[in-house]
Amino acid sequence: MDDRDLIRQTLRTVPDWPVPGVQFRDITPLLQNPRVFRVLIDQFVHRYFDARPDAIAGIDARGFILGAVLAYELNIGFVPIRKKGKLPFDTVEESYALEYGEATVELHTDAVKPGDRVVLVDDLIATGGTMLAGKKLLERLGATVIEGAAIVDLPELGGSTRLRAEGLALHTLVS
Ligand code: 5GP
Repeated sequence: MDDRDLIRQTLRTVPDWPVPGVQFRDITPLLQNPRVFRVLIDQFVHRYFDARPDAIAGIDARGFILGAVLAYELNIGFVPIRKKGKLPFDTVEESYALEYGEATVELHTDAVKPGDRVVLVDDLIATGGTMLAGKKLLERLGATVIEGAAIVDLPELGGSTRLRAEGLALHTLVS
């Protein structure tokens, strides 16, 4: 079995969570199995080793797990993009629409410098709203997002198409 098949088969789908009708793709089994966790992280390490990004930005909260290990392996810094109200220092913030209501994410103003080349990491792309907000925050500070990386793309929700149309290159492992 190749690495992507292993990842696909280890993902767990939880029906009707968090609300009826949603098929939630649960990545926790990927983290729980040390062999799969290593295969998963190595996929991203190999992808970005030669690109030599300046930093990894991880999105709250599963993007922290993946992004922090990736940054450690690449020997570069990790910066968190957090849900509003969690970061203590000066921040920039970006709001985006959810199915019902709105969400806001924040980034410390000194997280990246103008000209930094950053990889943006999350676990999954659905509508793309979260990753687009992250891209805008990083760009507001003058950084360039060289690629958005995620384990799972849900193409039927249109997020990856939308993000590419917004000029964000993407790398996902499983659709
Ligand atoms: P989007 O903003 O693309 O609609 O939603 C993506 C965000 O919601 C990501 O931060 C992701 O963690 C979370 N998310 C939405 N649906 C799922 C899902 O089925 N599984 C997981 N693991 N995360 C999801």
